[in-house]
Amino acid sequence: APSASAMVQLQGVTKRYGEFEALHSIDLSIAKGEFVTLLGPSGSGKSTLLNLIAGMIAPSSGRIIIDGRDATTLPTNRRGLGMVFQNYALMPHMTVFENIAFPLQVRGLPKDEIRRKVTGVLDLIQLGHVAGRKPRELSGGQQQRVSLARCIVYNPALILMDEPLGALDKKLREQMQLEIKRLHAELGITMLYVTHDQDEALTMSDRIVLMNGGRIEQQGQPDTLYFKPETVFSAEFIGSSN
Ligand code: ADP
Ligand code: MG
Repeated sequence: APSASAMVQLQGVTKRYGEFEALHSIDLSIAKGEFVTLLGPSGSGKSTLLNLIAGMIAPSSGRIIIDGRDATTLPTNRRGLGMVFQNYALMPHMTVFENIAFPLQVRGLPKDEIRRKVTGVLDLIQLGHVAGRKPRELSGGQQQRVSLARCIVYNPALILMDEPLGALDKKLREQMQLEIKRLHAELGITMLYVTHDQDEALTMSDRIVLMNGGRIEQQGQPDTLYFKPETVFSAEFIGSSN
């Protein structure tokens, strides 16, 4: 049954690509305001799970409930969520300001309201000084902050992030981890975060969902998980992947 305290509920969600079953009857509930990380090796089904929740792909069977509403067949833009990708997906010909304003223009907000909201978000992520620049004039970390800002600006109840820091070096990654944690604490948005970096999952999450071979292997608060020595994975050893 739909739960009032859950932001996302997956009920028996299976995904097949042709003959190949990438996810096997997943049940998962994410509470409102929670920071949940999907952790697992490459190919374990993390991106597939995220894309199903986003509505980028459809499940082969099962139900997806978002904020108490059956969203299984809803298009992405009606699910009330935002997405952040590893490659930022910013529009290269638009300035930082225009990139962040874009989703609000699509929603038909008045011009002065758009200006107020974009300015507010630029302050929040401390990028006001680069508002007029194009994405290629920014560092990788700045581009990822713009991509986060573009999400936050329309107040989604849920943000999905697929290895958002995978393209950044270690120092920037740690800085951005703190930034994302701060935004989560300040804004109270539910966050579902994908990584194959165990340390990242341990520092950022309220709860880690450990995936392997299209199944949830374990889940719990970071200090309650048991990592088998042979399955310890870190960005340093595996490198970045999708
Ligand atoms: P992860 O994000 O954990 O690396 P994915 O969800 O991308 O894993 O992939 C899970 C499995 O599904 C992998 O074996 C992958 O090859 C397969 N897969 C993903 N997308 C497709 C697709 N569009 N067509 C066929 N197989 C796919
Ligand atoms: Mg992936």
